[in-house]
Amino acid sequence: MINQERLLACFMELVKVDSESGFEGQMAATLKDKLTKLGLAVVTDNAAGKTGAETGNLIAGLPGNTDGGPTLMFSAHMDTIAPGCGINPLLENGIIRSAGATVLGADDKAGIAAIIEAVTILQEEKLPHGSLQLVFTVCEETGLSGAKNLDFSLLDADMGFVLDCGDPPGTIINRGPSQDKFKAEVLGKAAHAGSSPEQGINAIQIASRAITRMQLGRLDEETTANIGVITGGIAINVVPDRVTLQGETRSLQDEKRIKQTKAICDILQETTKESGGRLLLKVETIYPAMHVAEEAPVIKLALQAAQQTGLTAQIRSTGGGSDAHIFNERGIPCVNLGIGMQKPHTTEEFIKVADLLAVTDYVLAIIQAAAGGKH
Ligand code: ZN
Ligand code: CA
Repeated sequence: MINQERLLACFMELVKVDSESGFEGQMAATLKDKLTKLGLAVVTDNAAGKTGAETGNLIAGLPGNTDGGPTLMFSAHMDTIAPGCGINPLLENGIIRSAGATVLGADDKAGIAAIIEAVTILQEEKLPHGSLQLVFTVCEETGLSGAKNLDFSLLDADMGFVLDCGDPPGTIINRGPSQDKFKAEVLGKAAHAGSSPEQGINAIQIASRAITRMQLGRLDEETTANIGVITGGIAINVVPDRVTLQGETRSLQDEKRIKQTKAICDILQETTKESGGRLLLKVETIYPAMHVAEEAPVIKLALQAAQQTGLTAQIRSTGGGSDAHIFNERGIPCVNLGIGMQKPHTTEEFIKVADLLAVTDYVLAIIQAAAGGKH
């Protein structure tokens, strides 16, 4: 049975450990200690060198104690968004929030706490379970770079569950978009704005023209585009010679994302050229789209466990990305589960104790359903 007090204490402890992206060292040490005490074999991969983070990803293994059944992976990320240092969690009326100056870090420590409590119960009650692999990544919030640099030779899971979706427990994310990011530097020519403006080429004006020609926002049901950052200019009396635009495109269909990114790049090229400026453009695909078929064993298992715990299951797509994209890309069929963290990435972030309990119960049910047991 879930020990609510223990689960809450673990969650509170974890959110109090500072772990903004890249600074997951103390968090990794805390988890390594907990998992080792639970009897798991824990290794750290070499992602630290590749990501620049203090530590690599943590991979913990627990061999099964029953025959057959798939090897399951459960994963959550160790890093938080900023401001995430000195988090002071408050429990009030069944809701945990931060004292206000920081995020709460339920994204994604609610997922970590649920996984740890579930494994604690398995060990404590000697419940039947198949082989488990727990993966705690670094630098999820900075472009999934922990997962991207994960040592997949350490993994042999047949399927996986990422616990990193803000929706209510029971939500099963099987589809997510691919994402491109781009950075465009529009180069014009500086000149005195009052005495010789005709000698200048106004980079701000070029960028503005280009932006008004772009289609941005929600382009169709499964495609979006955004310019999110614009910087440029140094003084009101100087014709600006440099503007930087940064943005992104996403789509559930890779072809649509590629087409949209190309459309934006073409507009930037043409507009800059016709205005006599120059363009430096950098485009990068951050992650591929994910689409797990509804008939896939990982979804069947998720549905079966939801039914056994009385959760209302909902299979759906999302507009966001997660480590699940990378696991799928690397051949581990993987869904992202709703864990009920609300208003993530804001200082108003909170989570209901009831949802934390429900997620833990759900993880336990998935493990038991895979081992052929009843929850
Ligand atoms: Zn997250
Ligand atoms: Ca997040």
